[in-house]
Amino acid sequence: MPSDMPTPLQISARAAAISPSATLALAATAKAMAAEGLDVVNMAVGEPDFDAPAAARNAAHAAIDSGKVKYTPAGGLMSLRAAAADCLKRERGTPYAAENVVICHSAKHALSHALLALVGPGDEVLLLAPVWGSYDEQVLFTGARPVQVAPLPDGSCAPDLAAIRAAVGPKTRGIMLNTPSNPSGYVWTEEEIRTLCEIVIEHDLWLISDEIYGRLVFDGARHVSPAAHSQEMADRTILVDGASKVFAMTGYRMGFLAAAPHVTKAVADIQSQISGCPNYISQLAYQACLEEDPAEVADMIAEFDRRRLLIGAGLDRLGLKGPKPRGAFYAFPDVSPWFDDRGADGLAKDLLESKALATVPGTVFGAPNHIRLSYALSEERLTEALTRLGDFLGTRPRT
Ligand code: PMP
Ligand code: GLU
Repeated sequence: MPSDMPTPLQISARAAAISPSATLALAATAKAMAAEGLDVVNMAVGEPDFDAPAAARNAAHAAIDSGKVKYTPAGGLMSLRAAAADCLKRERGTPYAAENVVICHSAKHALSHALLALVGPGDEVLLLAPVWGSYDEQVLFTGARPVQVAPLPDGSCAPDLAAIRAAVGPKTRGIMLNTPSNPSGYVWTEEEIRTLCEIVIEHDLWLISDEIYGRLVFDGARHVSPAAHSQEMADRTILVDGASKVFAMTGYRMGFLAAAPHVTKAVADIQSQISGCPNYISQLAYQACLEEDPAEVADMIAEFDRRRLLIGAGLDRLGLKGPKPRGAFYAFPDVSPWFDDRGADGLAKDLLESKALATVPGTVFGAPNHIRLSYALSEERLTEALTRLGDFLGTRPRT
């Protein structure tokens, strides 16, 4: 910097400590490369490549045309809160009612506001690796400390329940659960959920249950919500869901949380001061989807399942090992045999630069031997991705 430039004023220590979302940053790099004319296959971002359902689009147009574009209550429209509670009851057997629900700008927003409402400096929150990278940062932002617990060592990415129990200490205030999992595609079994609930009750903890991929389960897997375990668990659980994945509505920015009324009140109060109310137009679009359960959703899930099988078979042919995904839309192969001294970060960088294939290194998720491949791409692009990955690995020394 030239010496006559004034030193910029310092930002806060809290802001200086935050890392940007690696998944969004990688997706932006891939998009910028594509904008320069490169034929990039973007498997970096977890974003469905489908249109939002017609019900959402029609409701959004109708909202604008009829002037429903003003503020709503800070916790969201009562009609949408009721629709979310009904949908959860129908699909997951949870006991929540409208007053247990707060509508947020996204699931990310719901998660971060839940953490702000529940934990702070001196507290610890258990994260269950492999874990979506935003959880660490969101916990750190509250002043609490994230503590990662490794999965079973057999490569399945199944939870190590004994290790979770052993990790609970005097400062532990809560656990963050994500099933189906981003990044592994692992779906927790009913028995695993039951044991986790026992740990939570025994140690008097909160459980933040991120169920944003709850409808995206395949291969006979069933999504089980811990909030359906018992009334006691419903009171301890902060169930988070949203419109981004199941309704392919990422840009609408809609999510919600369901919890005990004193928690939903705290979150609505935080929201009322920090962000006001959620977007009215998006709320009506989301409500239409929750009430109608659009036919497009079943088609999308069936298409994801076909892609899951295609990518699974392709990775098998390449000799890549990894957890068998049964939910969400990610494959998470172990690529460590092809590492140089830069590990997964270097491999993902080389893959992007030499083959224009964008992936996310497992370091972002606390699983440094893996890369994450989002299969929210057409079958043609997935086939192309597998060809590029095969060519890349074929030219790289294997240890
Ligand atoms: N949770 C998980 C596990 C996710 O993968 C995502 C992806 N964006 C989110 C929450 C947040 O979704 P959104 O903010 O788009 O609602
Ligand atoms: N959850 C998506 C992902 O993991 C979107 C990116 C983000 O919100 O950080 O790719």
